[in-house]
Amino acid sequence: MQNQKPHDNPKHSSSASESQANRETFPADVHCMDCGYCLFGITAGKCPECGSSLVGLRARDCQIPWEHRRERGWIRSYWQTVWVVTFQNRRFCEEYARPVRYKDARIFQLITLLHFYLPTVVGVVLLYLANPAKLPSPNSFLQIIATGLTWTVPPLWDRIYAEVWPAPIALTCFLIFLIAATGAPSYFFHPKGTSIRRQNTTIAMSYYACGILSLGPIIAAAGLLAGDRSDIDGWSSAVGLFVAVSSAAIVTLLWWLNLVNMARLTMPQIKGRYALVIVGVPLVWLGLVALTLIALPAVAVSILVVGYSLL
Ligand SMILES: [Zn+2]
Repeated sequence: MQNQKPHDNPKHSSSASESQANRETFPADVHCMDCGYCLFGITAGKCPECGSSLVGLRARDCQIPWEHRRERGWIRSYWQTVWVVTFQNRRFCEEYARPVRYKDARIFQLITLLHFYLPTVVGVVLLYLANPAKLPSPNSFLQIIATGLTWTVPPLWDRIYAEVWPAPIALTCFLIFLIAATGAPSYFFHPKGTSIRRQNTTIAMSYYACGILSLGPIIAAAGLLAGDRSDIDGWSSAVGLFVAVSSAAIVTLLWWLNLVNMARLTMPQIKGRYALVIVGVPLVWLGLVALTLIALPAVAVSILVVGYSLL
């Protein structure tokens, strides 16, 4: 569906300064990434409105390494794509002038998500093994929190902890959160004013924006250090907590900035679209946190409590 070639419209000009440029005109729905000028019919190498280079937009082949993974290798292509998406965002956004394969973008999203999720699973399992629950369990995670809150833990909570229920509940909810949080930004990338072909391209590109989540193992390792209760002085826990929180904040910030930049560069003709992403994406993420990481676990634990009380 995405393999349509650029229009083969007649050439319009042939000045010597343009001899290096590819003379094919742009399709009707490609705009200058800097000023939003419609480039339909333009054969020049520079934008006639603001003078910015159009060379990147004119490239014939897809420049996303991930789409060439079968020839170049999966691992190399994956990390090259993470780098381009995150740190060469403008170059990545030039892809919006060409078809971007939706299926490839979703595979990239899935692999990135697993980079974040699988280390989390390992971390939670190791933390559970390091903090074995007994009945009564003075070292249990809930007991530690409850002691801090000077609140007496009902035996039922310790029992739920001892039977390892919090782990599958938390991990299932976290997986739902990751799938939703990496997919939801695509709703900001298909504005009605653009053609279906361009909408398909920008939707696919929005899935690539989560590439920075591939740094998940660093956050998980730091979180594991933070949750280590065997450390007597507590310094490694403090360092772990600091690294986990700061790296998670940096990853989220870069992810958000990528999405804002993508909205600005791939939909330049729609004024204020990136402002919608600036505000809308964090609100959607907060909503998903409330729904999948607070409300959903609360419902699951409530069902358990009711179930146990009926036994
Ligand atoms: Zn321009």
